[in-house]
Amino acid sequence: MSHSPLPTPHSPLLPGATIGVFGSGQLGRMLAMVAQRMGYRVHIFSPDRGSPAGQVADCEITADYTDQEAVRAFVQGVDAVTFEFENVPAHVAMIANEQGVPVRPGGRVLRTAQQRLREKTFFAEANLPTAPFAPVRSLADLENGLETIGSPAILKTAAYGYDGKGQVRIERAGDAQAAWHAIGKQDAILEDYVDFEREVSMVAARGANGAFVHYGLIENRHHNHILDVSIAPANVAKQTVAVAAQYTRMVMEKLDAVGVLCVEFFLCRDGRLLLNEMAPRPHNSGHLTIEAAVTSQFEQQLRAVCRLPLGSTELLRPAAMVNLLGDLWRDGEPDWAALAAFPTAKLHLYGKADARLGRKMGHITVTAKTADEALETALAARVALRR
Ligand code: ADP
Ligand code: MG
Repeated sequence: MSHSPLPTPHSPLLPGATIGVFGSGQLGRMLAMVAQRMGYRVHIFSPDRGSPAGQVADCEITADYTDQEAVRAFVQGVDAVTFEFENVPAHVAMIANEQGVPVRPGGRVLRTAQQRLREKTFFAEANLPTAPFAPVRSLADLENGLETIGSPAILKTAAYGYDGKGQVRIERAGDAQAAWHAIGKQDAILEDYVDFEREVSMVAARGANGAFVHYGLIENRHHNHILDVSIAPANVAKQTVAVAAQYTRMVMEKLDAVGVLCVEFFLCRDGRLLLNEMAPRPHNSGHLTIEAAVTSQFEQQLRAVCRLPLGSTELLRPAAMVNLLGDLWRDGEPDWAALAAFPTAKLHLYGKADARLGRKMGHITVTAKTADEALETALAARVALRR
């Protein structure tokens, strides 16, 4: 779809333009909602019909990412392309480039974030601190790696990991073979197990003109390797935030990333920050920016994709977010009526029909005078939902 006046590569895409999103989960859904609020059209490319993002978009194209004809046709119908998850095949960005449709973030960022070994190697080459790690392509690599790194350690598949999938903790060198089998004998990365004080993340955005903004540090608590709770602002020293911002900015500049990007950190007991991983898109820990910040991470992604100036990242109130996993549906539909007792709780549901254990179905955000109060209320609201 082309719009008048004809856009030059440097002019912003204004309301009325069509944004094409590859991926169709909750991140695409929340992006679509904010884009529509601002007068944009949203087309979703989804492997399945009736997806969380497809339900709210102007148009949902159902095809496989490997179907290059379908990708080409989809790209022809939009003014810019973005992603809501990073495991999209590289040809998607290439096809968009060929057709002169801007892709933000670009293929290089996706390629780096898609594979844990490439990602950690990129951090290391940029002199960004990480836990000691080693590439593992065979059982012998794993045994050698364990000798250098020591145990406990954690073995992660290099590709397609999320929410703790494809990870095993190794307690002692004798467990190497079992761990190698457990991850399906595929390319992997071995990491020192970090005895961190806390986990924190920085959600940031970079505009096409190089402008950089961030939301400060958010504290994240995981349960079974899945994000459970996020709290903003994290209770950390100002200097820690400044260091995280410097690292995050360096990541985005080195990859020339335009859009939203989140870096997950381990905060060590001695105050050092180690980079764990990055996501070149809005992040679960940034969902609370919808209620807590002047500009949400999703609006920020839209702004960057459209070459609009980035919005203010100012935090209006301390906030806490709790995830609602499929487990909450185990004994039937959660008790939504119980939320009536929590007037500050903001419910988000992603429109997923199948409430599998561990699947992210929705979240609740609470803003309050203090982060502690927001957390207490958000946790209580979630408990009240349980049947
Ligand atoms: P993903 O989020 O893609 O599943 P992560 O590497 O972020 O993968 O791992 C998920 C969680 O597992 C982390 O947030 C952290 O709680 C834990 N974890 C991962 N790597 C390490 C490590 N090297 N040391 C300690 N804990 C880890
Ligand atoms: Mg993670």
